[in-house]
Amino acid sequence: MMDSKKSITCECEANTIELTFHHSMPPELVNKVFCPQCQQKGYKSPKSWPIPGDWRLHFDLEIARMFAMAKLKIDPQLVNPGFIIDGGYVD
Ligand SMILES: [Zn+2]
Repeated sequence: MMDSKKSITCECEANTIELTFHHSMPPELVNKVFCPQCQQKGYKSPKSWPIPGDWRLHFDLEIARMFAMAKLKIDPQLVNPGFIIDGGYVD
């Protein structure tokens, strides 16, 4: 199992966060991030998921579902943001 790290700049471009992806989940899993200032500046973050530090992550669920099906052999319909966070795939 390999962990990978990826730095992503938020939508307002003021901040960058380094995320770690676990259990061989591809970093493409996260396609947008929102820092606390993004929200104050009015960048909408629909369907994004809160993480500690008042950041929000937006997932590419197609990537997550393909990964689940191909690598974990589980029903892709079970994959949602809660599955990703609770499963410890990214932090
Ligand atoms: Zn921002």
